[in-house]
Amino acid sequence: MKHLQDEELVGLVFDELAREERDSCNEHLRACPACTAAFRALARAVSLLEKEPTEAPPPFAWARLKARIDKSGTEHDWTNPAWTPLILGHVAGMILVLLFITLTGGWLATTTLWQSLRTWRLAAELGPRGLTAVLFFGAGALMALALAPIFWWESRRPRNGTVQ
Ligand SMILES: [Zn+2]
Repeated sequence: MKHLQDEELVGLVFDELAREERDSCNEHLRACPACTAAFRALARAVSLLEKEPTEAPPPFAWARLKARIDKSGTEHDWTNPAWTPLILGHVAGMILVLLFITLTGGWLATTTLWQSLRTWRLAAELGPRGLTAVLFFGAGALMALALAPIFWWESRRPRNGTVQ
């Protein structure tokens, strides 16, 4: 048994064969599963190619794809933070800062530096811990101001793995 040639399959799919040739090919297809499979695969590929430019993707397939894109993009999105570790982290950070101020202020009070600082009226009123707190938060505010342009620039940069 002689299998169908590629040209014959293409001719069948595009319906461009002469009548006798088409009849003999169809007769072979009825008897040959291998050529029938090749014919169906080719016909399907051709119909997909012909459909592609005019037909929108099926709505559910599009919705699923979009959901996957959204999921891959928002896992580490700042607009949807993990609140519990964020709040716990902030509370722990504030406790550490207060502990640091208390200990540093207590240490400052024992130094000769404090003996000269306390002659400054504002420092005397704040006390060693108050002065440490003011210096600490003042330095923090200055640092935040200095870093603000970097954060701004970083927030505008497109993140990897997201589809724009
Ligand atoms: Zn065949």
